[in-house]
Amino acid sequence: MERLRAKIRDIPDFPTPGILFKDITPLMKDPSAMRLAIHQMLHPFLGERITAVAGMEARGFIFGSLVAWELAVSFVPLRKPGRLPHRTRSNSYDLEYGTATLQVHEDAVGPGDRVLLVDDVIATGGTALASCQLLEDLGAEVAGCGFLVELGFLKGRDRLADYRVHSVLQY
Ligand code: AMP
Repeated sequence: MERLRAKIRDIPDFPTPGILFKDITPLMKDPSAMRLAIHQMLHPFLGERITAVAGMEARGFIFGSLVAWELAVSFVPLRKPGRLPHRTRSNSYDLEYGTATLQVHEDAVGPGDRVLLVDDVIATGGTALASCQLLEDLGAEVAGCGFLVELGFLKGRDRLADYRVHSVLQY
C-alpha cells in the first residue's frame, strides 16, 4: 500500500486556501501502480453480483471505468447539470459553500441492478451520498461504495452509514 501512497501527491491550498488536495495524476502516470489501485478498489466486491459501476464526474469516470472494465459490467456516468443529452434525474446536495447537482440518465440503471459507486476521494461524503440516492431513485440497489482515498477526519463514512464503504488508502 505504501507503493500506492507514494503516488498520491499533496497539493496545499488547491483549489481554495486550506484544502490539501489529493492529486492522483502521479498514480495515473504509472500503469502497474494504477492496475494495483484498481484491483485494491474492487477486491472486496469480487464474487458479488454487480451489474454496473457508477462514477462521478470527473475523476470518478477514470477509476469507475477501469473498475467496470475489470468486472466486465456497464459504466454509468453521473454528471454535472446539462451534460447528459437524454432524459435525466437530478439530485442536489449541500457543499461547504452553496449547493451542487448531479444528474443521471433515466434509463442508466433500474430495478434489479446492483451498482458499485466509485470515486477517487471520499471527503465529506456528500457527493457519494447524493449519488447513491440518485441510483436508488431509479430503482437500483447500491452494492457498495469504493474509493481510492478516504479523508477520515471529514467523517464521510458516517454519512454513508447505510452503505458498504471500502477505501484503499486512509488519511
Ligand atoms: P465530498 O466532500 O466527499 O462530497 O467530496 C466532493 C468531491 O470532491 C469528491 O468527488 C472528491 O473526489 C473531491 N474531493 C474532495 N476533497 C478532496 C481533496 N482533498 N482532494 C481531492 N479531491 C477531493
